[in-house]
Amino acid sequence: MRYISTRGGMTPQPFCDILLGGLAPDGGLSIPEIYPHFCLDALKKLSTLEYRDLAFAIIHHFVDDIDHPTLQKLIDKTYTAEVYCNGRDPEVAREITPVLKLENNLYIQELSNGPTLAFKDMAMQLLGNLFEHVLHERGEQVNIVGATSGDTGSAAEYAMRGKKGVNVFMLSPHGKMSPFQRAQMYSLQDKNIFNLSVKSFFDQCQDIVKAINNDAEFKAQYKIGAVNSINWGRIVAQVVYYFKGYFAVAKNVGDPVDFCVPSGNFGNICAGHIARQMGLPIRKLVVATNENDVLDEFFKTGKYRPRSIKETFETSSPSMDIAKASNLERFVFDLVGRDSTRLAALWQSVEKGEGFTLPSPDFERMSHAYGFVSEQSSHAERVAHIREVFEKYGVEIDPHTADGYKAAKAHRDPAVAMVILETALPAKFEATMVEALGRQPARPEHLQGIEDLPQHSEVLEDDVEAVKQFIRQQLD
Ligand SMILES: *Cc1c(COP(=O)(O)O)cnc(C)c1O
Repeated sequence: MRYISTRGGMTPQPFCDILLGGLAPDGGLSIPEIYPHFCLDALKKLSTLEYRDLAFAIIHHFVDDIDHPTLQKLIDKTYTAEVYCNGRDPEVAREITPVLKLENNLYIQELSNGPTLAFKDMAMQLLGNLFEHVLHERGEQVNIVGATSGDTGSAAEYAMRGKKGVNVFMLSPHGKMSPFQRAQMYSLQDKNIFNLSVKSFFDQCQDIVKAINNDAEFKAQYKIGAVNSINWGRIVAQVVYYFKGYFAVAKNVGDPVDFCVPSGNFGNICAGHIARQMGLPIRKLVVATNENDVLDEFFKTGKYRPRSIKETFETSSPSMDIAKASNLERFVFDLVGRDSTRLAALWQSVEKGEGFTLPSPDFERMSHAYGFVSEQSSHAERVAHIREVFEKYGVEIDPHTADGYKAAKAHRDPAVAMVILETALPAKFEATMVEALGRQPARPEHLQGIEDLPQHSEVLEDDVEAVKQFIRQQLD
């Protein structure tokens, strides 16, 4: 299996090369030359496997340049009931992504039992082990520089902590994260994790990361890398839980199943699209958004219009507050028949800030041929749905999963199983949970009192040079 760029300007590369890279040299995203395909009999065989073996059976098709025993070892080390336990009954934790039944044909698949209580741990933990392996093989080192307003940064830190050959420099806005999020990140004691608390907002943190990446000399000298949402390794790891969820709810292998996914950068649901292309009988893929409705508008009208920062709202499902959806390019590449010339032209308009509108045959194929539909949610609806799910089913869901619940209800066919992907636990979003349920959400036992642990961070001015200087000091 080799990887090409959506925009057509990259010679095909093996997995390990694109794993450590970011954007393709032509500005596009890397994507497999073809998707592996499972026929019904092959799916039946997969349906009996436990999570790790299923992960290997799927992921090895995408990876030619790590030998099978090594890949299996890296996967086995990643998906353990200890890492994805979170105080669950050991039998349930063994499932890694257990499925909870709300009512007939309506399910929630738990993806947030990893160390940082969000679905990003599902992929990031594997990425940590893959990075360590590939860097060791090559005798290389990488210094990951990123910006976070909460979820991504902590998932990256918990995946890379203590890993050889990797340092993490994570910028966060000083005083802007919740006490819990701050404690999660700043209480890490590992020598390869650096928390930079920048006296500014998240957007400025992101600008600093961009400026560092635009300084080719600094980037090369200090081996700067990233683990953002376009990383292919993250997408491929996410494909696995769609298969797991499908097998958990389908009465017979071959039955149609719908998935509903709270979405921001389109990374999670892009993996669902790929699972569907691989032959998994997914019928609908329901995209759920919050007030930041770039994706809802796209799937309802065929118009893709990235927003400016000014038009991007801070909402109570903050991990879905996006101005554009980076991974959408991977789906549109398939939608336009993998015509990279056409794709590149569309994204040229995106980069100019204009966006594009799909011609109606392409627009119609999004739902007819690819199963995509969408729905958005407001704060009031989010709160009402958290309450509804608790009152009806006795289950506490977080604000992002509540956006998913709303979209699932809107597109549900009671005769077809619908799986809502849980993307975070309520414990991470106390204020909204209190507003909805009138009390603090349950917190896993091992995280009680995390705010009282000693914290490490370096407070820096909103200044690229100050951040570069800090990185130099640690590495020189
Ligand atoms: C990252 C995140 C999302 C959005 O996922 P994408 O892959 O960016 O679409 C949704 N919910 C939570 C809790 C997240 O952390």
